Amino acid sequence: MTDQQLRVSKIRNGTVIDHIPSGQALNVLAILGIDGTGGDVVSIGMNVPSERLGRKDVVKVEDRELSQSELDVLSLVAPDATINIIREYDVTEKHRVDRPERVTGVLRCPNRNCITTEGEPVDSEFEVLDDGIRCVYCDTIIRDDIASHILV
Ligand SMILES: [Zn+2]
Repeated sequence: MTDQQLRVSKIRNGTVIDHIPSGQALNVLAILGIDGTGGDVVSIGMNVPSERLGRKDVVKVEDRELSQSELDVLSLVAPDATINIIREYDVTEKHRVDRPERVTGVLRCPNRNCITTEGEPVDSEFEVLDDGIRCVYCDTIIRDDIASHILV
C-alpha cells in the first residue's frame, strides 16, 4: 500500500479499484450495479493526487470480491484501473482490467427503434470496438461518453 492509497481508510476484505480517471467513480459504481441499496459498504476517494494520472478516483467495496468479467466492463470508463483484492488487510491479488469483447445488459442503446429499447425483454448487447462500442441488434455505434449510456 502506498501513502496515497491510505487516504481512503484500509479495508479488511474486499476489492479496491484504483487508478480510476477522476470524475468516473460514480460511473464505476453504476457499472457494478452498486447504488447503496444492496447493503455494500463502499468508500469513494475522488480527485486523489496520483503520480500516474495527476488526479484519480478510488473505490473500495468491502466484503465483496468483484469478478474479472464485472471488472472488465469497467475498462470502458476506466481503462487504466488497477484491481486489488484485499484479504485480511493485505493485497492478495492485483489485476489490470481488460477490454471485454462484449458487454451485455449494462448500457442502453441510444436508438429508440432498437429492439432493446422498445420494451421487449431483450438485454442490450454491445460489441466492443477499438474506438467505441456497437449494438449487436441495430449496429448503432457509441464512440463518445459511453458512461452516459449506463443503465441505472
Ligand atoms: Zn441498438
